[in-house]
Amino acid sequence: MEFLRPATWDEALAAKAEHPAALPLAGGTDVMVELNFDVRRPPAVLDLNRVTELTEWSDDGAVVRLGAAVPYSRIIAELSGPLPGLALAARTVGSPQIRNRGSVGGNLGAASPAGDAHPPLLAAGRDVFVEAASVRGTRLIPIDDFYTGVKRNSLAADELIRAVRIPVADGPQQFSKIGTRNAMVIAVCAFGLALHPRTGTVGTGIGSAAPTPRRAAEAEEYLRETLAGRGLWRSGEPLGTEVVRRFGELVTAAAAPIDDVRGTADYRRHALAVMARRTLTWAWNDYREQIRSAA
Ligand SMILES: Cc1cc2nc3c(=O)[nH]c(=O)nc-3n(C[C@H](O)[C@H](O)[C@H](O)COP(=O)(O)OP(=O)(O)OC[C@H]3O[C@@H](n4cnc5c(N)ncnc54)[C@H](O)[C@@H]3O)c2cc1C
Repeated sequence: MEFLRPATWDEALAAKAEHPAALPLAGGTDVMVELNFDVRRPPAVLDLNRVTELTEWSDDGAVVRLGAAVPYSRIIAELSGPLPGLALAARTVGSPQIRNRGSVGGNLGAASPAGDAHPPLLAAGRDVFVEAASVRGTRLIPIDDFYTGVKRNSLAADELIRAVRIPVADGPQQFSKIGTRNAMVIAVCAFGLALHPRTGTVGTGIGSAAPTPRRAAEAEEYLRETLAGRGLWRSGEPLGTEVVRRFGELVTAAAAPIDDVRGTADYRRHALAVMARRTLTWAWNDYREQIRSAA
């Protein structure tokens, strides 16, 4: 097996163009497990660890450009303000060791339906883009078009993820995950929610309950109409149990879970409704608090 170690981003793109079957390596927390267990035997590994710009992020006040290899521990420490949903999800990933190495670029590269970064990325809205680059140029893939199947994504063979562009939060965000124990656990299912008072919209992301991470589009639309129709963004009145219950029901309806070693489809449906109701209640309480203290 060849081991490619580009020193710069341009060298990395050139190497991927020359060796499209080379397996990129960022934190290695998925790759090394697969190599050690002989799940994969790629002809070459493309180590991205010398490409320092992949571990940088910037924030222009509207959008965070998150380098593909920024580890979860830094997202928690440095980006809880602009990206609260992603930071909450990052806290639930693996152990401190995994959070020090694992990255959102790696989560996207693996594209597991159980990856914890996906629900908050979907919930952050339709203006989240994966920045994919090759020697042919750069393209921005909308997050809704990124996941194409179980552990499959829309990257071309010669492309690498450079960064993810995520709008800065304009309202409360929440993340909830159920596992078979409290830590070091792959999600049985997960749910991300973001309130977007600036646009009067709500974002959702379902994890580990369909072949790909996906949004609950009808639930989003139901809440958008209800919040606007009842003037709730302005009044900050409680949502009421019927709205919260219906939202949970629509989130569940958007899922397509299976029975597997981690849980049954029925349990996942039940858990999703509970997580949707809880995260909405938490986020709406936070929003009411925000507008009360701003008044
Ligand atoms: C003990 C343990 C616990 C874990 N717990 C969790 C958990 O709780 N939640 C969770 O979501 N995940 C978990 N994982 C899985 C893993 O940590 C995450 O998926 C992590 O985000 C992978 O990031 P990485 O940088 O280590 O990726 P790597 O392992 O380096 O790469 C992962 C995949 O992405 C590709 N890739 C990496 N960088 C790029 C790039 N720039 N461009 C294109 N492709 C790229 C690789 O080729 C590979 O296919 C766990 C893993 C272990 C070993």
